[in-house]
Amino acid sequence: MLEFTDTPQHYPQPKAADKRRRDFNEIYAAFDPAEAAVQAARCSQCGIPFCQIHCPLANNIPDWLKLTAEGRLEEAYAISSATNTFPEICGRICPQDKLCEGNCVIEKGFKSVTIGAVEKYITETAFAEGWVKPIVPARETGFSVGIIGAGPAGLAAADMLRRNGHAVHVYDRYDRVGGLLIYGIPNFKLEKHIVARRHRLLEDGGITFHLNHDVRNIGELRAKHDAALIATGVYKAREIDIPGGDLENIFPAMTYLTAGNRTGLGDNVPEFESGRLNAEGKKIVVIGGGDTAMDCVRTAVRQGARSVTCLYRRDRANMPGSAREVKNAEEEGVQFLWLSAPRAFAGKKSVNQILAQRMRLIAHDASGRQAVVPAPGETFALPCDMAIKALGFDAEDLPALFAAPELKVSKYGTIAINRKNFETSLPGVFAAGDIVRGASLVVWAIKDGREAAAAIHQHLATSERAAA
Ligand code: FAD
Ligand code: SF4
Ligand code: SF4
Repeated sequence: MLEFTDTPQHYPQPKAADKRRRDFNEIYAAFDPAEAAVQAARCSQCGIPFCQIHCPLANNIPDWLKLTAEGRLEEAYAISSATNTFPEICGRICPQDKLCEGNCVIEKGFKSVTIGAVEKYITETAFAEGWVKPIVPARETGFSVGIIGAGPAGLAAADMLRRNGHAVHVYDRYDRVGGLLIYGIPNFKLEKHIVARRHRLLEDGGITFHLNHDVRNIGELRAKHDAALIATGVYKAREIDIPGGDLENIFPAMTYLTAGNRTGLGDNVPEFESGRLNAEGKKIVVIGGGDTAMDCVRTAVRQGARSVTCLYRRDRANMPGSAREVKNAEEEGVQFLWLSAPRAFAGKKSVNQILAQRMRLIAHDASGRQAVVPAPGETFALPCDMAIKALGFDAEDLPALFAAPELKVSKYGTIAINRKNFETSLPGVFAAGDIVRGASLVVWAIKDGREAAAAIHQHLATSERAAA
């Protein structure tokens, strides 16, 4: 260990930008065994590992780095998978620059340990070697739990509950398992077979999936199971209220991304086939600066857009998305217009121009972010054949959606829970993931799912039926 003084930081190299623009495959190569060991050995085994403190799952990073450096990969996998249900997914798509790696404290002037790439390497090795096995519970408890939502929160909870011997039923309105891992996040960040592999494993471990099953009545579902978990994510796209918003060819990000992801999966998507949701040959403008916006601009590049522009009202330093993804987008030819906000969409039937306003940053607001105000008189027009709105997501009217007026929600419309045990205002009904937190990250959804599962297990184990 402590090799950081002699060994420079090295990430698995991404494909050259001009090559990766042409397909939807993941852009990063994998470490080979020697590289993984050498990079893991850069870790200085800190007494207080800030990487671990800033990993939402509190992964035991120094230990699995040491074991990787020593070539003890089966043990490294055992430790990494003890705290993370999907380490191969987090290794690929966590914004490591803001979490573990961004807080790695090897001596000043040396670059962080490449933690995410090592985590991916350990888990891919474990799959290749057959160390990742379906769940075999020690005993069946006779309890059953219904989970609404097969995204990372629901799946992480399902995995933990099944390990504890409960019968687990996961309901999802989509036709595939994975939630935003399948229909939001594009293939070039996370190839779909990685998610499908987990689906198979969970099914082999005895979890039952009910797909194409939109749950609209929480009471009915609760009556079928001893406990229920709501892990339905947030999908209501935030809108911009500006003139011209009803013109054609202005789409919410998820409409656009879902069509692209479905097409990549081999589904017949008429709106893509007709060209309506295909960026090919068009001047695309994406409004927003988060991960969703980055996924839209990079999808449009790969679909063969004539030009792709990202309009963001703050500057680069204040972007909410991962800096790595912004860099990737820039390399792939996306043009960023910082400090620019749309004022109106213009066109006859379809949008053909966006009228935009230059913005300037002012003092930090209560949230710690710099606020923005319009720069007087500074406006410009941007040609646009298709506009994509990536402004974030809110929860729908959940008490109405689930036919449960007594379901309490937060001031943001997300589900209110007892923070100690994840229980909602409905007895025996728990909630986890984005539907509680608001739009967040996969790693937080996994953490919430695991902790909610522990709370449900406790709830069942201490129930009257368990005592009888
Ligand atoms: P979801 O993944 O949204 O899953 C919820 C599931 O519930 C869905 O399958 C849905 O079909 C189902 N459902 C909803 N309502 C019902 C109902 N009534 N009945 C039955 N089923 C229902 N995070 C990262 O960490 N890294 C990234 O790079 C990243 N990129 C992103 C890119 C995009 C485009 C988006 C939109 C998000 C991204 N995120 C990223 C955020 C991340 O995907 C989410 O935080 C995470 O998926 C939330 O998990 P979840 O399980 O709470 O919800
Ligand atoms: Fe880093 Fe995410 Fe892995 Fe935690 S789960 S170690 S934050 S990549
Ligand atoms: Fe190793 Fe960096 Fe974590 Fe320290 S902070 S234990 S050097 S990975």
